[in-house]
Amino acid sequence: MGTTVIRGGLVITAADETNADILIEGGRVTALAAHDSDVARAWAESADRVLDASGRYVIPGGVDAHTHMEMPFGGTFAVDTFETGTRAAAWGGTTTIVDFAVQTVGESLRAGLDAWHAKADGNCAVDYAFHMILSDVNEDTLKEMDGLVDEGVTSFKLFMAYPGVFYSDDGKILRAMQRAAGNGGLVMMHAENGIAIDVLVEQALAAGRTDPRYHGEVRHALLEAEATHRAIQLARVAGAPLYVVHVSATEAVAELAQARDLGLPVFGETCPQYLFLSTDNLAEPDFEGAKYVCSTPLRPKEHQAHLWRALRTNDLQVVSTDHCPFCFKGQKEMGLGDFSKIPNGLPGVENRMDLLHQAVVDGRISRRRWIEIACATPARMFGLYPRKGTIAPGADADIVIYDPDATQVMSAETHHMNVDYSAYEGRTVTGRVQTVLSRGEVVIDDRSYTGRAGHGRFVARETCRYLG
Ligand SMILES: [Zn+2]
Repeated sequence: MGTTVIRGGLVITAADETNADILIEGGRVTALAAHDSDVARAWAESADRVLDASGRYVIPGGVDAHTHMEMPFGGTFAVDTFETGTRAAAWGGTTTIVDFAVQTVGESLRAGLDAWHAKADGNCAVDYAFHMILSDVNEDTLKEMDGLVDEGVTSFKLFMAYPGVFYSDDGKILRAMQRAAGNGGLVMMHAENGIAIDVLVEQALAAGRTDPRYHGEVRHALLEAEATHRAIQLARVAGAPLYVVHVSATEAVAELAQARDLGLPVFGETCPQYLFLSTDNLAEPDFEGAKYVCSTPLRPKEHQAHLWRALRTNDLQVVSTDHCPFCFKGQKEMGLGDFSKIPNGLPGVENRMDLLHQAVVDGRISRRRWIEIACATPARMFGLYPRKGTIAPGADADIVIYDPDATQVMSAETHHMNVDYSAYEGRTVTGRVQTVLSRGEVVIDDRSYTGRAGHGRFVARETCRYLG
């Protein structure tokens, strides 16, 4: 592989913005030196490869801590494979994904994890790790959690939604939290009261309210807030930290903020769709609203300001995508005449870094906060830091050369995700990925793909490093 120097860019991490050149050897960052210093000049002269980043940002590769490649849902599968999904991630400047391995009810965690390893192994363009979805909490699976932590699967997702599928009752949740408190695992919660939601779904359908927009109405904001509150109290009783996924409602943010004001180790993520889309999209005519069906659902526009504020005040710490794409044709259409049969999920793994950069352009967050919520904190939260999420001596050379001035129009015509629509069709954003390195290997070279399936490796994670 030889040595690579990235020269002349503005290096942005969660902590600093520096005019520095970067020396990369053996897939890792060896050193940073002041631009135009004698040291940096000597590196460039002897390097095997020099990448010019003048006028560009040089940022850590994105860490997307919430993706669902090939996820089974409602009788179909998310259409991005690990191959197509990680290639799209690279195009969008994301160099690590943490995907969710799924335990099937009645089977072991091991069987689920092995199945996800088999899907990903040899197919990924960038590095990947796994969380484990616990669908069936029992004595055996509780014991299995300890072993998974030891092999680098250090976080466990539980569902208060989807009765009969992924749902766990409060007793099961408490037991899993107690186990996590003992083995260092982090419990991630899908916080929506699924039992109450199912009642509202049944009532809506019986009354003939079958359009996609009713998906947003039955999954009431208060039922997200109630579940968030309950999850926090269960975690307190168990003495475990808690990470709430895809927070979308103002009222749920308030529960997190209140817990954090008490000093509790409670964390929250939101996703670009909640920051940039709303129930206006769910109400689009001709069943187009189905494109925006995901859970938690999109909320009325006025929720967005609260999410942005929480990202600024650190009541929310992470933005990940919940990338779970289903084609409009043939998949979303399964819910024509019954919104409850629309597969839940949106594409987004390719769009996250750019949408959040647009928030920098718009003055919502700083450049360093952009890197913090999209790279550094997800890496810290899930035991990948400082290998991932920053640019520092010893870190993996997962680096993006980012053009902050280029404009682009998001579209299904030009994106690389394996799905027939874009949730952001026609949206113009400022900023675009130019070149991407994954462990020192150039996988996107000045807007052309030079990576390969199988370059990406499984990363065994440490336990959460955001706590101490
Ligand atoms: Zn998810």
